[in-house]
Amino acid sequence: MSDEARERSAAERREALKEVFQRARACTRCPELAATRKTVVFGAGNANAVLMFVGEAPGASEDEQGVPFVGRAGKLLETLLVEIGLSRTEVFIANTLKCRPPGNRDPLPIEIDNCQEYLRRQVELIQPTVICTLGNFSTKLLRGDPTGITRLHGQPEVLVLGKRAVRLYPIYHPAAALYTPRLLETLREDFKRIPELLALGAPEQPPLEEVPDLAEEQPDERGEEHSAPAAGAPVRGTIDGPAAADQLGLF
Ligand code: URA
Repeated sequence: MSDEARERSAAERREALKEVFQRARACTRCPELAATRKTVVFGAGNANAVLMFVGEAPGASEDEQGVPFVGRAGKLLETLLVEIGLSRTEVFIANTLKCRPPGNRDPLPIEIDNCQEYLRRQVELIQPTVICTLGNFSTKLLRGDPTGITRLHGQPEVLVLGKRAVRLYPIYHPAAALYTPRLLETLREDFKRIPELLALGAPEQPPLEEVPDLAEEQPDERGEEHSAPAAGAPVRGTIDGPAAADQLGLF
């Protein structure tokens, strides 16, 4: 695929992501959340990011500002990103739930189920190589398994989500590290392995015909864009140099 075609497809995916955002913004699938939220916190960052984080649900600050991870846990996430040479503008940050559960209660199974279509579309359109799930809720959802984060953290695995294989990397939620200081060191150690995972590039992709046809994307958008970069090569222009036009989330 030529660079021009690749860029066009990234732009198309970004536009499609905006459309998903517009739908999510009007969502009333969870009546309690729709009635109590101030904003729908769709996600923020680079719409063409190689690295995506998936947290739990917006808290009060996120609900106010419409941006994920802007409170204390978000500051820690930002610090950890800087420690591995990244900034939040280079990654995409989303949540399992796009609306704040009242009183910051845990997301209900029905809410997770109602909301998962938005997350799955985000993954499909952003096409990350590595997805870091932060804590139990996103880890259990994307793995489709009840095994908890205490057992799984720091262990990357290849998982097929929709049509694509990604490297799923469960790590502790930064809020857990704020409340339990010994977890901070574990989280920091797990975070330090993210650059290695990114350097591996995309995992081998499943043959197209074996994957259910869920997406609207062009079939030939996949393999080439995600072939492993040569050592030291820029990763899709995001990790080495984000273009302002690629930023999504504050639109
Ligand atoms: N915790 C989360 O899981 N998500 C946010 O956006 C903020 C805090």
